[in-house]
Amino acid sequence: MKKLFKCSVCNFVCEGETAPAVCPKCGQPHEKFNELPTESADKVYASERTNDIHMEIISLIDKVIALSHEGINLNLDPACVGTFTKAINEGYIVKQRSKAEIENHITKGKW
Ligand SMILES: [Zn+2]
Repeated sequence: MKKLFKCSVCNFVCEGETAPAVCPKCGQPHEKFNELPTESADKVYASERTNDIHMEIISLIDKVIALSHEGINLNLDPACVGTFTKAINEGYIVKQRSKAEIENHITKGKW
């Protein structure tokens, strides 16, 4: 496992043997980077895939919501419109749950 360094100005985290010469996000010099302690780095690595899954779920739900709006606009019959409406409402719940979990990960250093 490589070391992780965090920019103290913009919170950009990068992996390597040393901090980068310049922050890729804010352009500050490498002196602005601090190496994350092992416990913090472990949290970042452990949550990496989970965070990606949450973001993919959010993206997929956006597609579900867009398709459901299209279905509502086609207005085939009330039951069909009702099904699409439920998909939108439930989609927002799924999406917001994943967003809340991402926020929790960020505040706990799992990002
Ligand atoms: Zn930076």
